[in-house]
Amino acid sequence: MGACPSCGLEHRVDIDEVVVARGARERLGAFLDAKRWRRLLLVEDANTADALGDELAADLSAAGHVVEVQRFADRHGLLADEHAVGAVRDAHASARPDGVLAVGAGVVNDVTRYATFLDGVSYVSVPTAPSMDGYASSVAAMQFDGVKVTLPAHAPCGIFADPVVLAAAPPEMIVWGFGDLIGKATARFDWVLGHGASGEPFCEMVEARVLVPLTRCVEDVGNLLAGDEDAIVALTTGLVESGVAMAMMGNSRPASGCEHHASHFWDLLAFRGLREHAPHGLQVGYATRFAASLQAAALGGLAEPMVLTPGAGGGDDERGWFGEQYLTLGPVRDEKQVWFATYGESWPPAEAALESLADRLSAVASSFPAVQGALDTAGIPSGAGFLGVDAAMLRATFRYANRLRSRFTVLDLLESQERLEALLDAVLPQG
Ligand SMILES: [Zn+2]
Ligand SMILES: [Zn+2]
Repeated sequence: MGACPSCGLEHRVDIDEVVVARGARERLGAFLDAKRWRRLLLVEDANTADALGDELAADLSAAGHVVEVQRFADRHGLLADEHAVGAVRDAHASARPDGVLAVGAGVVNDVTRYATFLDGVSYVSVPTAPSMDGYASSVAAMQFDGVKVTLPAHAPCGIFADPVVLAAAPPEMIVWGFGDLIGKATARFDWVLGHGASGEPFCEMVEARVLVPLTRCVEDVGNLLAGDEDAIVALTTGLVESGVAMAMMGNSRPASGCEHHASHFWDLLAFRGLREHAPHGLQVGYATRFAASLQAAALGGLAEPMVLTPGAGGGDDERGWFGEQYLTLGPVRDEKQVWFATYGESWPPAEAALESLADRLSAVASSFPAVQGALDTAGIPSGAGFLGVDAAMLRATFRYANRLRSRFTVLDLLESQERLEALLDAVLPQG
């Protein structure tokens, strides 16, 4: 692949084929034949075996494949941990397959992605639910010794999703996927802003790959929740394309902004026992509403100079929320320091550049009323108290979530402009 006509970068994607359509199963068969994979290992759990795995194994056997199965007996609470990875690697060692198929959603894919990466064998993803955006990912979200870690792994060589299977997924998993996808609306704002502030890479072609299915899902959320097949295809396409977009940029910028940092903050509070864990996509959807309000409000003072480095102070309130985890945040603080030393002083950009950036950000923000309406329809509330996040936690979330990642977002802009506190008071629900 040569330089991108839109941005000039070389976008590298290792996935040979993506199919989100009826007939995905036949296309998978042809793909396996073309790869000459005769011996196969299927990785699944009890739910995904019922949803698809049993039938798929029978199909593949009938087509002449030798099929071995690693089935986790769990119906709830399977973790992407050392045990699960060990089980897949043991199954691989005894089955000696030509390739592995991950039949499932988040955890099954993370475990398979990591285990096959360690064993140096290719895998294909066969999604069973449109619940998250990690199908095309090349990193694995693991939980080792109780701690969440993101580890380098490899992307699948193919993704084959059948809408009939996806539409039969539990309805709450469809809402999770919707929440993860709708977060791309605010991630997009932060990406445009970051590009405007520091010139970091931005690609309109990559942006469009996510935006088209995102817009479709926002407009069509009613049908999506009703299990309409076309709407499910749009959601799954958006989730898979988000992963492809990240691969194309070589980082998660196209799909993750301050709404994801908020979700990470809530994970940290859950880890500290201050609230219960909740599904990633649901957290992202909930955070997106507040992120959108802050971003829209930020446009009012876009040209204010940046005078503070975010996180430089580290007062008692901040340390209290992070607890012992505060000590691990030093490297992010250091990176922010460097960022602000390099770009903060040249903010705002000269008049023409500022005007064009403001226009682009306004165009992104013009989608927010529809985003908020779609969240209402999906039953993701606008008040505090959802997912164990009370008003005080919500305020702390958007006050301090930017301590968790070095990536520049609207929270950094507002904090450095000394506008964050006032806007939090203005846009967040009060307790
Ligand atoms: Zn490009
Ligand atoms: Zn996400």
